[in-house]
Amino acid sequence: MSDKSTRLQNLIRPEIQEMTAYHVPPATGLMKLDAMENPFAWPDEMKAEWLTLLATAEPNRYPDPAAKQLVSSLRKCFGVASELGVVLGNGSDELIQLILMAVNTGSCIMAPTPGFVMYQHIARSLGLPFEGVPLNADFSLDMPAMIGAIKTHQPAVIFLAYPNNPTANLFADKDLMAILDAATGIVVIDEAYQPFAQKSFLDKVSKFEQLLVMRTVSKLGLAGLRLGFVVGHKSLTEQLEKIRLPYNINVFTQLTACFAFKHIDVFNAQAVLICEQREELLLHLLSLPNVRTFPSDANFILFALLSDSAERVFNALKDEGVLIKKMGAVSGLPPECLRVTVGSMPENEAFFEKLSSILA
Ligand SMILES: *Cc1c(COP(=O)(O)O)cnc(C)c1O
Repeated sequence: MSDKSTRLQNLIRPEIQEMTAYHVPPATGLMKLDAMENPFAWPDEMKAEWLTLLATAEPNRYPDPAAKQLVSSLRKCFGVASELGVVLGNGSDELIQLILMAVNTGSCIMAPTPGFVMYQHIARSLGLPFEGVPLNADFSLDMPAMIGAIKTHQPAVIFLAYPNNPTANLFADKDLMAILDAATGIVVIDEAYQPFAQKSFLDKVSKFEQLLVMRTVSKLGLAGLRLGFVVGHKSLTEQLEKIRLPYNINVFTQLTACFAFKHIDVFNAQAVLICEQREELLLHLLSLPNVRTFPSDANFILFALLSDSAERVFNALKDEGVLIKKMGAVSGLPPECLRVTVGSMPENEAFFEKLSSILA
């Protein structure tokens, strides 16, 4: 490397130099069952109404920095009380980043593992130490370990995905309550998969000043919008608002999300269909010898191969035009795990047929 190039590299914090970028595999031409997207298109009439609305957008103007209409329609749609604060993010990923940018330098960040990779990825990028606490073998929270780690590390933020990704289960409510009681810092309950679990801590927010409930519209069916939100006491959300970039929610997202919340019944009905399909697909997978499935409260299924390689099966599925997620070396999961998103009925059937013939 030239001197100049070395000098430029040295401007970058060492923790960032050591990181690898979050990799999203290309999916062109493949049946996409790797990213927990909703498979359904909108009804024609709804789509036409939406296009008419989009024509009223003014892309030459900055969006409303407070997204007032969106926040008010979101409060109505999800029943968020007016005394609580709401912070919007360009996806909930951005909110994770916002929360971690707000805490003291050197603060410990904690989450059970295996869990959502962004907690650790973003903590690392900000130079914050991350403490992963392994789940029990049945993917429940190891409560003595969690409480012990809270006492030892006094984390500024604990992330709990409810349901968890990649294990697909809900943690026990009483365990989450015990963590809320033990925590001396912020507890973020990440409800990305709430549409498929129907369980929520949103109604507990007013009781716990340290609790932030985080939601996204991504898994519900609007992954392309990039919109997430956290609900919390104003004492916390007002601090987060100070570092939220003023125009982080663009004109089209604001319009489209307001529109979608008016039609929330359509999305909720799709979530019900996805849950029905999930149970169907689980039953099919259970019928396969040498496949171990795990129960799911989300829109995806984790399964382990008992006598085959996940790498081989993943590649064979891809050759057949189906993209799922290979869990690889995720510690805390059984070996040879794969994760499949529940798609439309024809997609699930195609996936299952191909999987069973590849395993045969
Ligand atoms: C997908 C996912 C998110 C990210 O959601 P975006 O709003 O699309 O950024 C957050 N948390 C968990 C647990 C997820 O699985």
